[in-house]
Amino acid sequence: MVNFCAMMVCSNRSDRDKKSFFRLPTIITSQGEQTKQLSEKRQQAWLTAISQKDLTEKSYPHTRVCQDHFISGHASKLYDTNNPDWAPSLLLGYGTSSPTTPASQKTWGGRVSDKHLTENCGFLNNLLPGDVVFANHGFKIKSSVGLMCAEVNIPAFSKGRKQLSAVDVEKTRKIASVRIHVERVIGNVRQKYTTLQDTVLIDFVTTQEGETDSLMGKIGLICCALCNLGTSLISFD
Ligand SMILES: [Zn+2]
Repeated sequence: MVNFCAMMVCSNRSDRDKKSFFRLPTIITSQGEQTKQLSEKRQQAWLTAISQKDLTEKSYPHTRVCQDHFISGHASKLYDTNNPDWAPSLLLGYGTSSPTTPASQKTWGGRVSDKHLTENCGFLNNLLPGDVVFANHGFKIKSSVGLMCAEVNIPAFSKGRKQLSAVDVEKTRKIASVRIHVERVIGNVRQKYTTLQDTVLIDFVTTQEGETDSLMGKIGLICCALCNLGTSLISFD
């Protein structure tokens, strides 16, 4: 039987391309409640990664994902939940037009902590199971993001170690190529709309009576929306 990769943008097929194919994980019901829950969660993470709306339960047994969507080239074991290959993560083919979603229309003072801001701005509500949040060191948000069944990706660093392990080097290299776009998108909004770089009057960041958002919050939202109307920063070639 010929296997086709289920990923939208991938045309790999087993009779033509020398690739390994991995079955969509099944829900294991015969090994206790914990295994059942974990396998359900994993199947969901795969389905989120595949992101094909017309994929029905009937076609799950025939659904395959090829090796190109796994960092190590193969899917990890069920209980290896910290492995980045617990679900497909590479070349997913969507989300690359990178719409900028302002975290919220609330404005915050410069001294607010990254953790406090992330947890209180409403950003977490936008997360879906299987999402990966790129953050820098200092964002101690693993547990709050974990509550949404998403994960945080922080660049590996060699502090306290002589050098990174081979796995970390490979992981960091692949992710750095995606991470750079995040910085570009944020830089793009700030460069185009210089008002976002300046110090603003306190009146701009306080919410007036009867309003839900501050003036600066609304300006930020519109700046992001205008950037989204422009051409994509990332070429699709
Ligand atoms: Zn594929």
